[in-house]
Amino acid sequence: MARYREAVCRLCRREGQKLFLKGQRCLTDKCAIEKRNFPPGQHGKSRRPKPQGYGIQLREKQKVRRLYQILEDQFRNYFEKAASRKGVTGETLLLMLEQRLDNVVYRLGLATSRAEARQLVRHGHIVVSGKNVNIPSFHVVPGQEIAVRESSRQLQSIQRSLDLSGNRGVPPWLALDRDNLKAHVVSAPKREDVNFPIQEQMIVELYSK
Ligand code: SF4
Repeated sequence: MARYREAVCRLCRREGQKLFLKGQRCLTDKCAIEKRNFPPGQHGKSRRPKPQGYGIQLREKQKVRRLYQILEDQFRNYFEKAASRKGVTGETLLLMLEQRLDNVVYRLGLATSRAEARQLVRHGHIVVSGKNVNIPSFHVVPGQEIAVRESSRQLQSIQRSLDLSGNRGVPPWLALDRDNLKAHVVSAPKREDVNFPIQEQMIVELYSK
């Protein structure tokens, strides 16, 4: 499966804000945004005009795509699905992204980044309602149980992530049973559960041109 191969800190620097792509490192002073908060590349430090109109829309789309680590074609598919559903397209798009299995594993604190969560899923460590699911984009719905596979419960990376992610908190639409390394999807997520500054309307405007 295609995925990002760039140095991910460059992505944060391009967007001018932390996208939390590297787990624990993002919370330390080793974070590239703490040290070099200007766009990467030879002319990164030179003054650039503030983005306007199309530029703002493009940056917003790139930010969300990079946050959830989704390639362009797949992101476009999400948008088209969201646009075909009832409701506010931008909000539907974000909530579909939130319901990806890799995002859910990250939001539960079983991994320190979405990339790490994706790896857990792909390596078969996650079970959904009793069935092995190794597809990171799997769409999680209310009533399902997300659990760490029995034979993977001793994985140090999971225990370490749970310890480190304490401050992040689990969103209210998920109920984590930390002792048994499983969780219930209590309800569908709401817009206010997406705890990252995103202007989703900009993405809708970009794709609607
Ligand atoms: Fe982004 Fe994390 Fe790198 Fe900081 S350490 S620039 S938040 S990926």
